[in-house]
Amino acid sequence: MPGNNTLVLASGNTGKINEFNKLLSPLGVEVVSQRDFDVPNVEESGLTFVENALLKARQACRVSGLPALADDSGLEVDALNGAPGIYSARYAGEPSSDDANNDKLLTAMADVPEGQRSGRYWCVLVYLRHAEDPVPLIVQRHWEGEILAHPRGDGGFGYDPLFWVGESGMSAAELSSDEKNRLSHRGRAMQALLERWC
Ligand code: IMP
Repeated sequence: MPGNNTLVLASGNTGKINEFNKLLSPLGVEVVSQRDFDVPNVEESGLTFVENALLKARQACRVSGLPALADDSGLEVDALNGAPGIYSARYAGEPSSDDANNDKLLTAMADVPEGQRSGRYWCVLVYLRHAEDPVPLIVQRHWEGEILAHPRGDGGFGYDPLFWVGESGMSAAELSSDEKNRLSHRGRAMQALLERWC
């Protein structure tokens, strides 16, 4: 990472902050939460993961005065023309609920036959050196899977119990966290970002 040793993560999610710190501390980079700077949540008004990640990162830079990293992610299902997509967190409405989102996905997929249940998670990471940075660093990675007809496993979060990982023969909610980090959209995106920095 060029020039600085503290960056703000455009998220208040402690799990994400810990994950990014684990990856970046060997490089001498400290990741702090935007909560430490009272950064208000930004309206995610973009129509793409990239736009929403940029909005979040820019706001975090502007308020904190530090370089910022933002991530935006979601599930794209082919049989549903890409839904829930950028609306993954609030697919079944607000306040957002994993259980309600999964119920809605199961209902929407009820008549979709095996072989046509493909989908993928996407993760976009955006790094800005400052709020007016004209050359954001952007990486996008995905993770292919199938949408199950019944939930399996109780690990992970979000749509993981319905996301079948063919290469592992398990749902994402049945994978260990290390294995999920190795395979997942987010793990791959973080790895790609590290390669760009080093
Ligand atoms: P965000 O990037 O934290 O805003 O997450 C967007 C939404 O996409 C989450 O609330 C989940 O519904 C879904 N999502 C993103 N990544 C994952 C994942 O690794 N497992 C399960 N659901 C995910």
